[in-house]
Amino acid sequence: MLIPHDTRIALDVVVDLVNTAPDGGQPEGGPPVDGLADIEALYAFAARHRVSGVRELDGKDLRAVHDVRARFAEVFAAADARVAASLVNALVAAAGTTPQLSNHDGYDWHVHYFAPDASLADHLAADCGMALAFIIVAGETERLRRCEAPDCRRAFVDLSRNRSRRYCSSRTCGNRLHVAAYRARRREAAG
Ligand SMILES: [Zn+2]
Ligand SMILES: [Zn+2]
Repeated sequence: MLIPHDTRIALDVVVDLVNTAPDGGQPEGGPPVDGLADIEALYAFAARHRVSGVRELDGKDLRAVHDVRARFAEVFAAADARVAASLVNALVAAAGTTPQLSNHDGYDWHVHYFAPDASLADHLAADCGMALAFIIVAGETERLRRCEAPDCRRAFVDLSRNRSRRYCSSRTCGNRLHVAAYRARRREAAG
C-alpha cells in the first residue's frame, strides 16, 4: 500500500496520541499513566510532532484533546470499516475541515485539512481523521490494530506487506513474548 508522506506523518501522530491514554497499557507492564496529563505535556506532544499553528493552550484544549483521543481510540477498536467510517466522519465534521494546499517551512506541497484558526484538538481531529480516512478508503481498516501482547493494548498501524504484524513493537512486546516462549520450551525440554 502506497501511503503519501504527510498521511504517514499524521498516522504516527494519531498512534502516539491514542497511546498517551492511561488505558492503552504500558509495554513494560508498569502502572497506567496519562501521557497527556497536563498542559505542559500537551505542548510537548505538539512540539514532538511539529504540529503547525499551535497557539496558547489551556485547560479547555487539554479536555478537548482528551475527548478527541478517546474518539480515535474507538476507531482503533472498531469492528469493521463501517463503524470506523462513521466515527471518522463525525470527528472530521465536528472539526470543520477546510482543505488547503500549503508548502510552509520548506515542506513540499501537502494538504492541511484543519481550518486556519483551528484549535489543537480540531487540528488533530481533521488531519489525523483524514489520514485514517485514507486507510479506510484503501480497504485497509484492519491495519489499524491493537498490540496482542498480554497487558499491552497499544495502538499501531500495521504497514507490513502481508498485514502480519501483531505487536506494537518487535523490540519490546514482540521480543518479550519471544523470550517467554523460548523459556517455556526450555522448561518443557528440561522436564
Ligand atoms: Zn503542514
Ligand atoms: Zn505492545
